[in-house]
Order: sequence, then C-alpha cells, then structure tokens
Amino acid sequence: MTKIITTPDPRLRESSEKVGKITDEIIQIINDMRQLSLEWEKEHPYELSAAMAAPQIGVNKRIIIIRDDMEDKKKATYTALVDPEIIKTEGKTTRDYEGCLSVPKIYGMVPRPHKVRLKAKLEDGKEVRIKATGELARTLLHEIDHLNGTLFIDHIKKDKNAFYEMDDKGELQPVDYEEKIKNNKELWGDD
Ligand SMILES: [Zn+2]
Repeated sequence: MTKIITTPDPRLRESSEKVGKITDEIIQIINDMRQLSLEWEKEHPYELSAAMAAPQIGVNKRIIIIRDDMEDKKKATYTALVDPEIIKTEGKTTRDYEGCLSVPKIYGMVPRPHKVRLKAKLEDGKEVRIKATGELARTLLHEIDHLNGTLFIDHIKKDKNAFYEMDDKGELQPVDYEEKIKNNKELWGDD
C-alpha cells in the first residue's frame, strides 16, 4: 500500500519522469493520491490538504492533484494535472505561508511570482492551458517543484526569519532556524 512519504526520503529529491500516455496505472495513481490526501486531512484538523504531487507517495512521475475548492473542507474534490509544464511566470514576487504534507509541521514564508501560465493534460488526456494567480499560482508552483525534486524549504533556507512550526493548537509559531537545522540535518541537507 502506498503512503505519504516525508523528508528525508530520497524519492522527494528525485526528478520525476514524464507520463505520456494515460494508462489505467496512471489513473490508479491519481486516485491513490486523492484518497491519501483526504486521509491525511482527517488526521490534521487544523490543516487543509490543498494539493499533492506523485513523488509524495513515492511515485516519481509528473502528476499533481489540486483541490477544486481551497476554502471549504467539505468540498473534497481534486483535479489532476499530468505532465504540467510552466510556460511563463510573471508579476510581482509575493511572500506567503506554505506548508507541505511531506515536511511535517513546518511552514515558511516563501517568495513566488504572482502569476503562472502552464499547460498540462487532464485525466482524460485532454490538453489544457491554465492561467493562475495568487494562491492557486503559488500552489501550482509548489507542486511542480516537487516534480523536480525541490521542496519549499529550499527557497528560504537562507532566510532565518521565514520559518514557523505548527503547535498543538494549530497556531504557527516562529522557530529558530539555527536550532531547526541542528536538529534536522537530513531535512535541510548540507550547505
Ligand atoms: Zn509539498
């Protein structure tokens, strides 16, 4: 049975391969992602599972799923994007909180471009072009990063004040970056 993997699992650091044709096996992976994403959410009452990338269940293929409604936890459907490719990022860089199912409890203020244009295939093989801004753009860029072995923490590891940790009440508390590194060498890698 597949499950969500977390740092320092090396599969999170691999570059994922292109899917190409959407077979039954690919549909199965997508459905596993949906199911695991919602199971994770049940165990994390303060957090929303907005999206997931296939490497997060140990499958190094270029597939991501994105929640159709990021506000309402009761609307638990996801759209899958296969072989997503960034065409262009544009707009001002903005900073906002990001978390990740594969980096437990840690949040960070991550800079991202405000707009992204991309193309991808839907589950039925249809090609789509997507223009996204704000939170959706941020989420898409975070997930596409996963397909290249990049985690959100990589973008901010030079910024000592960008890290937070979720406490037992679901509040984000600033964490001491130096301490975090000392205790989580495998999380951040060397350098
Ligand atoms: Zn993530």
